[in-house]
Amino acid sequence: MKPIIGITPDVEKDDKHFLNNDNMQAIIRAGGVPLIIPIGNGENIAQIVGLLDGLLLTGGNDINPILFNEEPHTHLGEVSPSRDLFELELARQMLAADKPIMGICRGLQLLNVAVGGTLYQDLHQQNEGPMLQHLQKSPTTYPSHFVQLAKGSLLAEIAGSERIQVNSFHHQALKDVPSVFKVSASASDGIIEAVESVDKKFVLGVQWHPELLATKGDAVSLRIFDRFIGACVK
Ligand code: MN
Repeated sequence: MKPIIGITPDVEKDDKHFLNNDNMQAIIRAGGVPLIIPIGNGENIAQIVGLLDGLLLTGGNDINPILFNEEPHTHLGEVSPSRDLFELELARQMLAADKPIMGICRGLQLLNVAVGGTLYQDLHQQNEGPMLQHLQKSPTTYPSHFVQLAKGSLLAEIAGSERIQVNSFHHQALKDVPSVFKVSASASDGIIEAVESVDKKFVLGVQWHPELLATKGDAVSLRIFDRFIGACVK
């Protein structure tokens, strides 16, 4: 049986769901069966976790800073409070069950908050000195800035390299990362671009969008999905 991969869609005003097809196609190509999980499902999380072999937390709106004990910064974007709470509980129960999780962009940030980490509500406003452009204006499949991968990390092993070029569509970023995660990629301006679990079977979050690069046939992005789905096979 192919592994069943839950995917959390983005929401508009905590109401309408939407999701780029690239997420589903990347999972199907890697040998998984994607199932989209809507919000408003909080009471069913234990049953959902039992059903899933893996979870993909996708991109979307900003995470409500109240969830890491901060008030909203002037440059905070739109938040999705219902999606935040649903995904946090889903992620925590998946972590407790040691089932594989991959987080993309907001999904990486959600994972960090789920384990007690914090975020820059706006990385450009809350960091000193020259920064890279992390909200690229070029097409979504165009690799923009480079990231340095940590020696010995799962991500470096998957990439087969210690430096890769990624696309970048974020204005929030990880700030404090709890010790249950290790940083596995950083940009040249110091912004954290990926983390992975130190003790779980497979937990990987990336700040860029490998699902968009995978659609274009990018080899590292395809291997990231292959490894994720491989970890989900029972
Ligand atoms: Mn970036």
